[in-house]
Amino acid sequence: MEFPELKERVQELKAKKNAVILAHYYTPYETQELADYVGDSLELSRLAAKTDADTIVFCGVDFMAESAKILSPQKTVLTPDPRANCPMANMLMPKELRRYKEEHPDTIVVAYVNCSAEIKAEAYICCTSANAGKVVASLPKDKPVLFVPDRYLGTFTKKSVGREMEVWPGFCPTHQRFTLKALAEAKALHPEAEFLAHPECPEELSAAADFVGSTSAIIRRVGESDAKEFIIGTEQGVLKAIREKSPDKIVYPLLEGNVCPNMKLMTPQKVLWALEDNEYEIKVLEDTRIKAKEALDRMLAL
Ligand code: SF4
Repeated sequence: MEFPELKERVQELKAKKNAVILAHYYTPYETQELADYVGDSLELSRLAAKTDADTIVFCGVDFMAESAKILSPQKTVLTPDPRANCPMANMLMPKELRRYKEEHPDTIVVAYVNCSAEIKAEAYICCTSANAGKVVASLPKDKPVLFVPDRYLGTFTKKSVGREMEVWPGFCPTHQRFTLKALAEAKALHPEAEFLAHPECPEELSAAADFVGSTSAIIRRVGESDAKEFIIGTEQGVLKAIREKSPDKIVYPLLEGNVCPNMKLMTPQKVLWALEDNEYEIKVLEDTRIKAKEALDRMLAL
C-alpha cells in the first residue's frame, strides 16, 4: 500500500475508534507523519495522561507505552510492535533493585523513565532527561540517592546539580556510540557549528558540548541560538523536527546512520495493523501500576 492510501486508512480508523497516535522523535519519519503528537518522553507522558481518546497507539519503545498505561489505565494502549524494547531499560532487573533497597533502606531511588514499570514501582520518583536536575534538586539533602538506570544522565545530573549520588551503570547503546573522534571529524568539517549533546551521551561528549539537553531542549536550542550550523549528538530521527521548526538553520548528525533500531521498528504499516487488529495491548499488573504511578505523579507534580 502506498503511503498516502495508508495514511487515509489510518485517519479513518482513528476517527472510528477515537484513537490518538503518539510518536517519539526517534521513530521513522513516515510514522511521525501519521502521529497526532510527536514529542520526547516527558511530553508524551503528559499527553497520554491528558488525552480524551479511548485508544492510544504509542509509537515508541515498551517503557513509554507502559507509562501511558500507568497514567491512563482506563484507556486501551497499543504498541505497533511488542519487540520494541529499550536495551538500557533491560540493564536493571527488579530483583537487583529490590536487593539494593534491602541493603540500603534509607536510599531514595530516582528512576529515569527509561525503565520497566516494575522498576518505576520500586522507585520513589521518576525523571526524564528534561527534568532530571529539577527532580534531584527537589530531594531531601540528608538522604542517600541512587539514580537508575543510566550512568551518563546520572553522572551529568550529579555534576550539574552538585549532589552526590550513586549511579547505576546502565547506558544507551545508541548514544554510547558517539565518540570524541567522531566529534573531532564533524568539527573539522563544520568548524562554526555548535555541538548539542543529549545527556545519555558519554561524559566526555557532554563535557565537550556547547549545550547539553533533552531532545526537546535541543530542538529549542537550535531555534534560539545565534549560530547557523549545529552538530547534533543524539538519535538522528530528531533532525526532522529541528528542520521543520528551524528551516533557516543547518543541522548535521554527529554520526551518520546512528539510530535506535528499536524505535525504528515502529513502521507506518504496523501502526495501521495496530488500529485494524487492536494489537498489541499493553498490560501492567494493577499493584505494580499503582506504585509506578506514584513515582510518575511525583515527577509530573514538580
Ligand atoms: S535511544 Fe537508547 S535509551 Fe532511547 S529507546 Fe533507544 S536504546 Fe533506549
